[in-house]
Amino acid sequence: MLAPALEAIAAAASVAAGYQTMSPTGQWYGRTFIGLPRGSKQLALTYDDGPNDPHTFRLLEVLARHNVHATFFLIGKYVGQRPDIARQLLAAGHTIGNHTFSHPLLTLKANSTIRQQLSDCRAALEDAVGAHSNLFRPPFGGRRPAVLHLARQFGLAPIMWNVTAYDWNAPPAAQIERKVVKQIRGGDVILLHDGGHKHMGADRSQTVIATDHLIARYKSQGYEFRTIPQMIESTPAHEAFASQHR
Ligand SMILES: [Zn+2]
Repeated sequence: MLAPALEAIAAAASVAAGYQTMSPTGQWYGRTFIGLPRGSKQLALTYDDGPNDPHTFRLLEVLARHNVHATFFLIGKYVGQRPDIARQLLAAGHTIGNHTFSHPLLTLKANSTIRQQLSDCRAALEDAVGAHSNLFRPPFGGRRPAVLHLARQFGLAPIMWNVTAYDWNAPPAAQIERKVVKQIRGGDVILLHDGGHKHMGADRSQTVIATDHLIARYKSQGYEFRTIPQMIESTPAHEAFASQHR
């Protein structure tokens, strides 16, 4: 039996390890890109769980009106159902990444399942749009060393985020906007949703409105909106990040 003090330390460590598994900015399990150093005038909008009719289309209209490009992490199963939306995203100049085939929490899955999820999503994306980015975002932000290792074996670069919009339950746009504004430090990767992992058709109208407001707000403050590849390429940190994947 452990001495009480050691027990407390062990408990704290296991809590911390659990937290790190899900925390988007946790770096214990291998480097993942989460943004640029604080104070940068670049921001990246990222959208998960699409494609989604009609909200991905509404979002495309807003982004086009502001001449902003974003990064979309697509669910392979939905891409198979609506390859036209994925093609439209790419044609509009947005970046498309892998968000697995059916959005399981990978930390609980066998390696063979993780591999299958990554490759099935990649196949769906290749069928729909052909060449696309090597970016990968784990569903629910769930990681463990094996998830990141397998992703890198596939040539995928894990991309997390440091600003959470908390928009998955479709709160009012003003609330989404407020959550984001509270966390922005410059150089941020912002997590939003144009779809829902439970079914296609999730109502993302509030995220679309919040996006419109956020772009207007930060452009007026001199910020530029970039895709994740643009953000990575713009910094010397690119070297450190890229070296993880060689
Ligand atoms: Zn997701």
